[in-house]
Amino acid sequence: MGALDELLFTVLTQHTSDSNAEVAYKAMRERYPTWGEVLEADTDLLADAIRHGGLANQKAPRLQAILAEILRRRGNFTIDFLAGLPLNDARDWLTTLPGVGPKTAAVTLAFSLGMPAMPVDTHVYRVGRRLGLISLTTSVDAAHAIMESQVPPERVYAYHVQLIAHGRRTCKAQRPLCDDCPLADLCPSADAFKAAAAAPIYRRPKRRGKNL
Ligand code: SF4
Repeated sequence: MGALDELLFTVLTQHTSDSNAEVAYKAMRERYPTWGEVLEADTDLLADAIRHGGLANQKAPRLQAILAEILRRRGNFTIDFLAGLPLNDARDWLTTLPGVGPKTAAVTLAFSLGMPAMPVDTHVYRVGRRLGLISLTTSVDAAHAIMESQVPPERVYAYHVQLIAHGRRTCKAQRPLCDDCPLADLCPSADAFKAAAAAPIYRRPKRRGKNL
């Protein structure tokens, strides 16, 4: 997948699963094989094509606005030149496109251009807060720059992948497996979860008023 394909696919993943977004992306590319055709499409028909990905009436004009802005800035539909920019410049270029936030930008930079950007998805954010890698009040958007700076650039991708794996296997959203967690001795949330698990009725613990 090229960088622009990754960017627009990531927009389709917003607020839905990757599998739903894949169905929507495939339907869109079958109906509109070129990005020019997506840009020129009737917006309602484009929304119909991507309906499976959810929020189609918002995502269709968003996709077209992104394409229009890229065409205005670059005169074509390629963004591979971003790989030659410093990371922060590439991120700024992407996040000043309409509807492109830090996560969508980081996914595009990391996965299609091999740059050391840190996408903070729901797993990374949850595990980061519980482990104290970010504070409980840090926003998802702010977490990107903070977590990206915590490891050397060559380790950012692995850091991202390992936090996701830990979040899926062990530090699950509702009932994390703290008894089996190799990080429990280091984790400021472990005692609260262990106490919740031992209580007659499980209630997700809070720290400083915030859900863990
Ligand atoms: Fe998550 Fe529990 Fe491990 Fe802390 S000890 S990282 S809360 S699984």
